[in-house]
Amino acid sequence: MSSSLIRGKYVVCRATGRTDAQVIDDGAVFQENGVIVEVGPYPELAAKHQPDEVLGSARHIVLPGFVNSHHHIGLTPFQLGSPDHNLELWIASRLGARFVDRHLDTLYSAFELVESGVTTVQHLHGWLGGGVPDVVTRAEQILGAYQAIGMRASYSFSMPDQNRFVLDADERFIRSLPPAVGNELAALLEAVSMPLDEVFSVFVELWERWRGSERIRIQLAPANLHWCSDELLQKLHEHALKYGVGLHMHLDETPYQREYARRRTGASAVSHLHQMGFLGPHLTLGHGVWLNEEDIDLAAETGTMICTNPSSNLRLRSGIAPLQQFAAKGVRVAIGIDEAGINDDRDMLQEMRLVLDLHRTPGMDDVVPTAPEVFRMATENGALTTGFGANIGVLAPGRAADIVMMDWEEIAFPYLHEDTPALDAVLRRAKSANVKTVLVAGEAILKDGQFTKVDKQAALAELADSLRTPLSPDERRRGELGAKLLPHIRGFYNSWHDRRQWAPYYQHNSRR
Ligand SMILES: [Zn+2]
Repeated sequence: MSSSLIRGKYVVCRATGRTDAQVIDDGAVFQENGVIVEVGPYPELAAKHQPDEVLGSARHIVLPGFVNSHHHIGLTPFQLGSPDHNLELWIASRLGARFVDRHLDTLYSAFELVESGVTTVQHLHGWLGGGVPDVVTRAEQILGAYQAIGMRASYSFSMPDQNRFVLDADERFIRSLPPAVGNELAALLEAVSMPLDEVFSVFVELWERWRGSERIRIQLAPANLHWCSDELLQKLHEHALKYGVGLHMHLDETPYQREYARRRTGASAVSHLHQMGFLGPHLTLGHGVWLNEEDIDLAAETGTMICTNPSSNLRLRSGIAPLQQFAAKGVRVAIGIDEAGINDDRDMLQEMRLVLDLHRTPGMDDVVPTAPEVFRMATENGALTTGFGANIGVLAPGRAADIVMMDWEEIAFPYLHEDTPALDAVLRRAKSANVKTVLVAGEAILKDGQFTKVDKQAALAELADSLRTPLSPDERRRGELGAKLLPHIRGFYNSWHDRRQWAPYYQHNSRR
């Protein structure tokens, strides 16, 4: 292994408060064997250390790598033929998604992530059918792609055991459908079913395979309250404790899900999880758009984290998360791009900017998100939702050398007022094109804008080639089934529709 000195006009080490960050002017990071040894003024570190390589310059800004804390797939659902319905309909419209080579698919989004400064991704793999060997193979194809490009990945897969199409029992929904449609859906659900003991044997096998890995961690992902029986939740909780891994659970993403929780438990999803002893710092709630004030208190008291996914929430009509309330109560928040951002890509800089701007409610009080807060969500907090925890997310001695170098002069060109804080400028103005070099564990996986370990153009050409064939009969059939299901799903939720119930949420969301 080797050492390097990474220099910047600014070195942003970490956020230190709501409006402050630790930034070293003309600073540097010295790393050895992938671990940060020292951070400080460049002249001092240059005199003290003899690195194998000097990276960056007085025109760069150096930051910790970002963490996308909620990610699923490569080609986006839109690319695969599914328009932006609301989440409940979208589940069906996604059925027509075609099969994409998993290695190439994972590389596709990994390119976008790294180019926007992401060094670690929380990959939440969707429903998996087939036997244990098949599922393990599919997970390995994804993990192999992250290994090839050099990113860190915190991987988990979700396996719902109930209510997979609407917020009600599969059998009951299937019975409500015309028999031909119902039979087709039943066959499809059967194909993606797996006994619970097999689900957990997949987890254990993957966990054992990757336990010594530097850049891969295996975690657990309860799909969502409606998708998990209490028995499944209990088993997930036991496994998390036994193997010492974190959990990432979609929760309260839509108002329908909140209403489902009320019907199932007589309370909120969060209070139900609390009663099961499920909450805690090892748990991250994905979305949490429809949490109420008591839920947010419970999350704060138990140290439960929340991952906010604003693009996804907008695109799938889920709502706007009460982020200001999360912050006011001291809940640790991370950021996820989910399936895709508002430009239908995986641009972490844009997603951070969306978090910065989406919650700028009217008023004179100082309650809206700040650049250091959003930066902390995308670095230190995001890290804690992954299996890498406090090893990443901050530029400090002992932490992994996961580092992003951007061209400061491009960000500040042709003019930027000299008093503008450097971190504010990154949050407001930086684009993927300004990200030049990305290190993971001290290794440059992107150098001067070029991927060093994989041939991006060749991989994208191969991906495009692999999809030039017409849709297969099975892909066509699934697409047609999805279209046939849409009116029935609309019908199912008709009785749930009461926008008057949702109105108070929007009012309360704008307070802090
Ligand atoms: Zn998701």
